[in-house]
Amino acid sequence: MAAWIGLGANLGDAPAAVRAAIDALGALPLTTLSAASSLWTSAPVDAQGPDFVNAVARIETRLTAPDLLRELQALESGAGRERPYRNAPRTLDLDLLLYGAAHIDSPTLTVPHPRLWQRAFVLLPLHEIDPARVPEAALLAVAGQRIARRP
Ligand code: AMP
Repeated sequence: MAAWIGLGANLGDAPAAVRAAIDALGALPLTTLSAASSLWTSAPVDAQGPDFVNAVARIETRLTAPDLLRELQALESGAGRERPYRNAPRTLDLDLLLYGAAHIDSPTLTVPHPRLWQRAFVLLPLHEIDPARVPEAALLAVAGQRIARRP
């Protein structure tokens, strides 16, 4: 199954944290990395602190979506993420954006990710690796958000 993961970090060495997380996704059980976007820099949305570094990765996985979510949360914990309050700055945030064409609505997992279409920092990196997944209208809808591809 193809799955798309959104990555973000805005504490410490954020580019290194995102790069390491992309590598770690490829090392998950039953999983290979099939594509990774550039790193992007975006202004915080509903969050505090410095700019975020973002990316989107595509994996091929035989993990179920709940198992994949658990693996993502283990990677977040491993990166030292603390949650003192909602939307606090974070060393690493991993979101399951899409899991094949699945629609999942459980207490712990909503797929497609509910805020996918509102966030330039997800849509632009996703468009970079899989343009067919992101309609032009979706890009236009987030055109006001500050985001840039890192040199
Ligand atoms: P956050 O603090 O934004 O990383 O949110 C983490 C919480 O969102 C966890 O409790 C997850 O169970 C829940 N969640 C629901 N849907 C998703 C998803 N598609 N990807 C990641 N976390 C999700």
